[in-house]
Amino acid sequence: MKRATPTRPPRDNRETAAAIDALGARVTRLEREQRLLRTTTCAIAREAGVTIGGPCSRCGRSYVLVASNTMRCPACGDGRSM
Ligand SMILES: [Zn+2]
Repeated sequence: MKRATPTRPPRDNRETAAAIDALGARVTRLEREQRLLRTTTCAIAREAGVTIGGPCSRCGRSYVLVASNTMRCPACGDGRSM
């Protein structure tokens, strides 16, 4: 009786393993870059006297900036008093 799902040839398995390795390396590189950007962004915010809030509820493209009891999204400009 034939199997319902054909087995993949070894070559395909090697290509899949290589693709997974490449994705893993890419994720590691992106995570490192994200950590660097987060550290730099937080330092810039501290020096500017601004606090970084949560994601903008209007556009979701940026975290809001909080200063002088006002929240403002640098991406869409949405702002409100707190
Ligand atoms: Zn926004």
